[in-house]
Amino acid sequence: MRRNRVFFFCGERAKGAVAIRLLVHLSDPFYDKILLMDKIIKTISASGGIRAYVLDSTETVRAAQEHHHTQASSTVALGRTLIANQILAANEKGDTKITVKVLGNSSFGAIISVADTKGHVKGYIQNPGVDIKKTATGEVVVGPFVGQGQFLVITDYGLSNPYHSMTPLISGEIGEDLAYFLTDSQQTPSAVGLNVLLDEEDKVAVAGGFLVQVLPDAKEDEIARFEKRIQEMPAISSLLSSDDHIEALLAAIYGDDAYKRLSEEELSFTCDCSKNRFMNALSTLPVDELQAMIDEDQGAEIICQFCQTPYHFDVADLEELISEKS
Ligand SMILES: [Zn+2]
Repeated sequence: MRRNRVFFFCGERAKGAVAIRLLVHLSDPFYDKILLMDKIIKTISASGGIRAYVLDSTETVRAAQEHHHTQASSTVALGRTLIANQILAANEKGDTKITVKVLGNSSFGAIISVADTKGHVKGYIQNPGVDIKKTATGEVVVGPFVGQGQFLVITDYGLSNPYHSMTPLISGEIGEDLAYFLTDSQQTPSAVGLNVLLDEEDKVAVAGGFLVQVLPDAKEDEIARFEKRIQEMPAISSLLSSDDHIEALLAAIYGDDAYKRLSEEELSFTCDCSKNRFMNALSTLPVDELQAMIDEDQGAEIICQFCQTPYHFDVADLEELISEKS
């Protein structure tokens, strides 16, 4: 069997990077919420040899852009990292938390994301202000601003020590880096495509992706058929530009092969921060530092790195913490 040779990847660089998704404009926010919910659809080939996930992550990346005020390149880099994390989390069960750290040495700095198995993801990019496009095509440039470094995945099953797994960054385009990670570190031949397309104002127009994996039951001719189809697949950016990119992705992945839909699950950018959580963090500080916050600043403010929500702690909050420690 030549199972481990398979490392296929669908080119994902945004061409033109301009696509307008057809959005239904209804004034009722209730309908907006339903229509605009992100989702992942899990499928398996009729033979049971190949599985595929397809994702609509548009609202997730849109929320990330709004929270972090990211410029074009930073939006795409952070967005792709969030989608990569959604894909990795989809492979986990139970109360697992997956952290993805894209640790490059270029302008973006680190890109950090955390996802759970309930469809929630949060994340940030150290430098939200990178905004570089190719003059001729308008293509948003990502890879060079990630640079060289590591793609680190931390899997926390909530038991003992979280499991760390790391591969080198292949191109800094994130999709290729994830495909390499899955194939190298998880020993599962995988094809990944993911991208974020921006509109003329550099707002998120559409974001999403797919994962195709070869399962142990796959027959060689089935693998070859999917491999060929994925190699000949249109660029992910053009599939994402389709009116219904979920269906376009499924059609491109399966072609004439029969498949089953196993589940459809909601995805969202959701941060689990709270005043209580930061109160607990503050409570680990020594009393003299807490006292200094009272004396010098008459309180403290903490801004959540993942969602930029500010939390204010007044003198009474800090005095409560001090009294708990004495
Ligand atoms: Zn937060």
